[in-house]
Amino acid sequence: MKSLRTIALKEAQSRVSPEVKAPSARISEFFGINVFDKKKMKDGLSKEVYEKLISSIDQGELINHEDANHIAAAMKQWAMSKGATHYTHWFQPLTGTTAEKHDAFFEPSGDGAIEKFAGSALVQQEPDASSFPNGGIRNTFEARGYTAWDPSSPAFIMESAAGKTLCIPTVFVSYTGEALDYKAPLLKALNAMDKAAVDVCQYFDKSITKVNASLGIEQEYFLVDMALYNARPDLVLTGRTLFGEMAAKGQQLEDHYFGSIPERVFAFMVDFENEALKLGIPLKTRHNEVAPMQFECAPIYEEINLAIDHNQLLMDLMEKVARRHNFKVLLHEKPYAGINGSGKHNNWSLITDTGKNLLAPGKTPKNNLMFLAFFVNTIKAVHEHADLLRASIASVSNDHRLGANEAPPAIISIFLGQQLNEVLDEIEHSRISKKIKEDNALWLGIPKIPQILLDNTDRNRTSPFAFTGNKFELRAVGSSSNSSAPMTVLNAIVADQLVKFKVDVDKLIKKGEKKDIALLTVIKRYIKESKDIRFEGNGYSQEWADEAEKRGLSNIKTTPVALDAYVSEKSTELFTKTNIFSKRELHARHEILLDSYFLKLQIEARVIGEITNTMIIPATIAYQNSLIENVKGLKEIGLGKETTDIPVGIISKISEHLNVVKTSLDAMLAARKVSNNIAESRDKAISYDEQVKSHFDTIRYHADKLEQIIDDSVWPLPKFRELLFIK
Ligand code: ADP
Ligand code: MG
Repeated sequence: MKSLRTIALKEAQSRVSPEVKAPSARISEFFGINVFDKKKMKDGLSKEVYEKLISSIDQGELINHEDANHIAAAMKQWAMSKGATHYTHWFQPLTGTTAEKHDAFFEPSGDGAIEKFAGSALVQQEPDASSFPNGGIRNTFEARGYTAWDPSSPAFIMESAAGKTLCIPTVFVSYTGEALDYKAPLLKALNAMDKAAVDVCQYFDKSITKVNASLGIEQEYFLVDMALYNARPDLVLTGRTLFGEMAAKGQQLEDHYFGSIPERVFAFMVDFENEALKLGIPLKTRHNEVAPMQFECAPIYEEINLAIDHNQLLMDLMEKVARRHNFKVLLHEKPYAGINGSGKHNNWSLITDTGKNLLAPGKTPKNNLMFLAFFVNTIKAVHEHADLLRASIASVSNDHRLGANEAPPAIISIFLGQQLNEVLDEIEHSRISKKIKEDNALWLGIPKIPQILLDNTDRNRTSPFAFTGNKFELRAVGSSSNSSAPMTVLNAIVADQLVKFKVDVDKLIKKGEKKDIALLTVIKRYIKESKDIRFEGNGYSQEWADEAEKRGLSNIKTTPVALDAYVSEKSTELFTKTNIFSKRELHARHEILLDSYFLKLQIEARVIGEITNTMIIPATIAYQNSLIENVKGLKEIGLGKETTDIPVGIISKISEHLNVVKTSLDAMLAARKVSNNIAESRDKAISYDEQVKSHFDTIRYHADKLEQIIDDSVWPLPKFRELLFIK
C-alpha cells in the first residue's frame, strides 16, 4: 500500500491554481460592496433614523425599538437584494475563533411564506449554544447567553458557494450581564480611553470631543499544501509540527524575505484579498516573511473595534479561500521548530475627531507638550502594568515565540529610538526654572522634537513594544490570537494612567501653578518614575535578561504564571475601577485561559503518543527488520564481521534512539495521569507545563534522529523540506 506521504507528495506536485477574478479592475469599485456601511444606511433609512444611528455609533446612545425595526427592515432589504437568505449574530467567544448561528429570514405565514427580520432580532439574540467557555459564570442548566448588536461595527454579507448570510457583529454576555466574549470588554476599554483622553486633550485643545484608538494589524502566516498538511496528524490536530528534523536549508540564506512571491501563493493572496476588500477590509500590504513559506499581510489602520473585527474576519476568510487553492493557512505562532514563528504586530495610536494623531510630534512646542503628555503617559502605564500586558499576550502557542530568540522576549520593555530618548533625558534633567515661569516663555523649556521621526526611529526588531514615529507597535502578540485581549489591556492601562495624570496636574494647578508648568512638572516626574521600562539594546541578549532583573522587570516565561497578573490586586483594582471587568469576570477569564492552556497541551501530548506509536515506531521497526534481513543475508553468503558491522551499527543506533523515544513516551504518559488528576486549574496548567511538556523535546529529538536514519521511502510523515519548499 502506498503511504499517505507518497500520495500527498504526488498530489502536491501536480497543483493547478484556480482562476482568480476580481469583480472589477479597480479596487475602489468593489471595496466594501458587501458591507452595510454608512452610505448604504443613509440610502436605506429616513434622515431622522440615520442620524440617530450615527449618534449611537459615535456616542453609544441607545436605539429604541421602533428605530431598530426601521434599521432591521433596511438591512434586510439590502441583504436580500444582494441574495442573502439568512442572517446571523456574529460574535467572538473566548475560544479565540468567531461564532455564528444562522437563521433564515424566511418564515411560513398563513397560506404562503414571507421574509422577516424584526428590530428585536437585530438587537438581541439568545444563542442556545451552552458550551462556549465561560469559566463557571454560566452553568449549563441556566445556559442563557445573549448576543447584542454592536452598531459601531457594520453588518456585512458573508458569501460562500452555497449561499449568502447577513452577519451582524455582536457582543456575547451571560444572562446576568457578564461578558463571555472579547468584544464586550474591549468596547468598555475603548470607551474609558476615549473619555480619559478627551479630558486630557482639554488642556490643549477644547475643540476635541472624541478620541479614537486606532489599530493596524500586521498578520503573519504560513502556507502549506493541503495534501501534505492532511498527511501530518500533528498539523491537523494542533496546528504545529510536533516532530520533524529541520530541512538542510532553512532561512539561513535569507532568500525568502521580500523575495518574489511564488505564483501559486500569489493567486491565493489575490483571491483572499478580493474577498476581504469586498468586506471593507482595507488590505494594503502583502509580502514574503523571513521563513520559507511564511507571508504577511496588513490592512490600513482603523478604529480598534473595527480593526479587530476585520482581523478576525480576515483569518476566517484566509482559511476559507485557501481551500480553493489547496493550501492550508497555518496561523499558529510556531508551526515549525528551527525557523521563525509568526506574530501579529499591533500598531496603536490615538486619533482625535479633529484629525490629530496624539502620538505624532507636532510642529509647535505647544503641540509637542500635548504629544509628550500622551507619549509619557503611555510609557508610564506600560511600566506600571507590564505584567498585565505580558498576561494579555500569553498562550500555549505564543510561549514558543516569546523569549525564543526570534520574537520579542518575555520581558516587557519599550524602545523609543535615540532621539526621543534624548528628549526624555533632557526633560528629566532640566529645571523647570523660575525664570521661565516669570517670562511665561515655558515653551523654551521643552526640547525640540524633530518632526519626522519615522526615518529616524531605528528599527529595533527585538523590542516587544516599540515607538515607530507616530504610533506604538506591540510586537509580542501571537499570530493566532484575538487582538482584543492585548488591546483591552493597553487601552485600559493608558486610560487609567491619563485619569491619574489629570488628577496630578489639577492638583498643581489648584496650588496656583500655571497650567503648562503643572503639565511639564508631572511629565517630568513620570519620565523619572518609568525610566526602567525603557531599553534600546538587543532584547534577545543574556545581558538584557540580567540587566532587566536588576531593574526589577519581570521575565515570565510561561503562560500559567504569566496569567496571574489578570487576577492580581493591582489589576483587579484597575479593571473594576474602569468598569471593564468585574472581579467575577476576571476570575472566570483567568480560569478559561488556564484550562485552554492545559487542554491544548493535553491534545499535543496525545498526538505525540499516537504518532510515535502508530507511525514512527512501526516505520522504524520495519526498516530495522530489513537491516536484520540484510545482516542474515550477508552472513548466508559467507561475508564476515567487517561487512556486517555496517548494518549492525545502524541497527544498534536505531535501537538507542528508539529506546529513549519509548521510555520518554511512557514517562510522559505517567506524568499526564498525575496532572489529569489535579483539580485546580492553575496547578494543573503548571503541572502540564513542568511535568508533561518537559518530555516533548526529548521524544522529538530522538524521533527526529530516527527520521535522519530511516529509509526515506518508508518514513511516514511529510518532511520539513517538503512542507516548506513544495509550492
Ligand atoms: P512594518 O514596517 O512594521 O512592517 P507595515 O507597513 O507592514 O509596517 O504595517 C504598519 C501598520 O501600521 C499598517 O497596518 C498601518 O496602517 C499601521 N499604521 C500606520 N500608522 C498608524 C497609526 N497612526 N496608528 C495605528 N496604526 C498605524
Ligand atoms: Mg511592523
